[in-house]
Amino acid sequence: MNVVTQDSYAVWENCLRTIRSSIGNQSYKTWFEPIKAVQLDGNVLTIQVPNKFFYEWLEEHYIGLLKATIKKELGEKAKLEYQILMAQPNNQNNKNHTADTGPWQMPNSAMNPFIIPGIKQVRVDAHLNKQYVFDNFIEGDCNKLARSAGLAVAKKPGGTAFNPLVVYGQVGLGKTHLVQAIGNEISRNHPNENVLYSTTETFTNQIIQAIKNNAINEFVQYYQNIDTLILDDIQFLANKQKTQEIFFHIFNHLHQGGHQIILTSDRAPKDLEGMEERLISRFKWGLTTDLQTPDLETRMAILEDKMQQNGIELPRSVVEYVCYNVKSNVRELEGVLNSIIAQSSLNQRKIDLDLAREAVRNFVTESQRELSLDHIQEKVANFYKIPVEQLRAKTRKRPIVVARQLAMFLAKNLTNNSLKTIGDMFGGRDHTTVLYSCKAVQDMMDTDKAFRITAESLEKELSLENYA
Ligand code: ADP
Ligand code: MG
Repeated sequence: MNVVTQDSYAVWENCLRTIRSSIGNQSYKTWFEPIKAVQLDGNVLTIQVPNKFFYEWLEEHYIGLLKATIKKELGEKAKLEYQILMAQPNNQNNKNHTADTGPWQMPNSAMNPFIIPGIKQVRVDAHLNKQYVFDNFIEGDCNKLARSAGLAVAKKPGGTAFNPLVVYGQVGLGKTHLVQAIGNEISRNHPNENVLYSTTETFTNQIIQAIKNNAINEFVQYYQNIDTLILDDIQFLANKQKTQEIFFHIFNHLHQGGHQIILTSDRAPKDLEGMEERLISRFKWGLTTDLQTPDLETRMAILEDKMQQNGIELPRSVVEYVCYNVKSNVRELEGVLNSIIAQSSLNQRKIDLDLAREAVRNFVTESQRELSLDHIQEKVANFYKIPVEQLRAKTRKRPIVVARQLAMFLAKNLTNNSLKTIGDMFGGRDHTTVLYSCKAVQDMMDTDKAFRITAESLEKELSLENYA
């Protein structure tokens, strides 16, 4: 324990009087009341601050005032040293965080953990979803690097070059799943580590609350106590200056202490707008890796894994159809599967292609799905080697009629257009003709195997092109 000398106490009290008269009451309470005078050694005054963030804040905002005040008390040669109450025991990198303030250097002794008896490390609830683990995070070319970096980090949190680990990618590609899997794996491998998952939204709201309740210190301390911090969707930090500033200090504290930071974003760090440069540059210190849209094989593997988890089986044709058609979003793939399961169990529907089509239609966002009627017509005309205008003409020659009917059938199945629109696009036919054509195609498919193969392969190709 340090001895609080009467001298240091008296000197600091005098300083406080000056400081109190120079800054606002709130700032004084927040930043100066928690400080304790620890020692006076000649002209060197040592003060104790609660944590490193505190120290950095003082250096950033009050160093001028502190210097002037202490010189007034102790003369021109006066020096200030800090002792940090909650220093990290495994700090490996002192250099980075001594602010450049001339004689106002932080002594090495400040790095020694000086813990008051009674203050213990607090365990935090990790806020992890136990369902998100590596076992059910299917590997594909789209996520190989991110997944293996995640595994490396999970083995040695804070001990790899991947700090921070930044995972970015569009929605529904598995960012949250992956970073939670890392968190769960760390908790499993290192049960004594404090892991914390937080969305950026929660983080921001907590800051707003903390400011309201005058508890920013506690907030920052809480976060600085964490061993692995996972912050999801950091694009939401954009344009939130105060939140960014506080996060910056937490980031520095954790990083310097060799703690792991894992971030996700919907875009690459360099493309984040409304974000402080110093934050962006820190995001680049570690590894930035993206999740891409899964290829067909990976989508099938994901869907099959989900089927297994749900204990259900789908016909192969349905699995293929769904995976061909839901391309850019794994969440939608799951949505389609769930909708098929719900329809079949609640409404006793048979699981077939019709049901799959309906589910895809309900789940896949419009912009991805819409195939143009022109394109369908061209595809069919090419296949039958007839001019595309013939499909829109009045002619009733047999091969052309079949091609036209097939094109209408595909238009109805693969697009969201109304029967009327489809009729219009085929030379102004009315909706009953479209319906009749669809029925005729269905009948032919049931009776003519070669025709069915043609129809199905055209349908498959068109959906593939549409979602490529
Ligand atoms: P994001 O955070 O990128 O928006 P999520 O992590 O929420 O995406 O993923 C959406 C859904 O897709 C989740 O239910 C997740 O389990 C699933 N998912 C995504 N990628 C995979 C994968 N490679 N293997 C298994 N499931 C995945
Ligand atoms: Mg997410």
